[in-house]
Amino acid sequence: MDLNLKGQIALVTGGSRGIGRAVVSALGRQGAEVMINYRGNHEAAEASLKQLRVEGGSGELHPFDVAVESQVEEAVKKIIDQHKKIDILVNNAGVTSDNLLVRLKDGDWDQVLGTNLKGTVHCTKAVCRGMIRERYGRIINLSSVVGLTGNAGQSAYAASKAGIVGFTKAMARELAPRGVTVNAVAPGFIDTEMTAKLSAKAHEEYLHSIPLGRLGTCEDVAEAVSFLVGPGAGYITGQVVSVNGGLYM
Ligand code: NDP
Repeated sequence: MDLNLKGQIALVTGGSRGIGRAVVSALGRQGAEVMINYRGNHEAAEASLKQLRVEGGSGELHPFDVAVESQVEEAVKKIIDQHKKIDILVNNAGVTSDNLLVRLKDGDWDQVLGTNLKGTVHCTKAVCRGMIRERYGRIINLSSVVGLTGNAGQSAYAASKAGIVGFTKAMARELAPRGVTVNAVAPGFIDTEMTAKLSAKAHEEYLHSIPLGRLGTCEDVAEAVSFLVGPGAGYITGQVVSVNGGLYM
């Protein structure tokens, strides 16, 4: 275990499954105490916590809906009351609702933007106050290759992920004088439940367009997040780090 992050408190939204679970695990292995957020799937969250502990890390579960500001504020207050601070925030919780715009319901648009973009805003707003006080913090926002390139049938998702890029850069400028860095990680096509929903044909097409010739793993993304929250990344802020096997350059 590399104890780069010993003594640090991390909050990972959507930390119960997929990329979030791999990030929880990676930060735990580096010695951070990890607050695992999720919305409703308690079983998956328990499995994530169990994996963290088996690997020698420590943490706890914090169910709340990132789209609801009052729930975010209450949870962050609880964590700070107990642990005094949050050093690392990984805004990872995300959903998709794919459809051509002409068929997309207003409620679906709101759910995707509400979770992915506003959820990121809510958590950043609630957590950055303490980081400003501490004059230290690392915020990582999960964007997507789709936020950089666009994708037919994913207008809401692409808008939310492109919005995260703009938000990341604005916050990087706003928080830099307070010692807080803000960066985005933009994964490509990663093997998770989210991408398992795609058709076999779409899978095949993606594989052909990835120069490294394979789907990414959750661990590939977690490695980039780990680097950006670590001591070696102190002079990096406002950047979008793509983890996409060369899918988009
Ligand atoms: P998964 O669908 O595997 O997991 C989503 C996680 O987010 C779960 O922990 C889920 O908790 C949580 N979540 C969803 N909605 C909310 C909410 N309103 N409040 C709190 N938690 C919530 O996602 P992935 O691991 O595939 O993706 C993680 C992030 O990476 C997302 O932001 C996604 O957009 C991004 N990404 C993923 C790519 C991929 O190929 N998979 C590619 C590019 C970006 P619960 O189960 O309890 O609802």
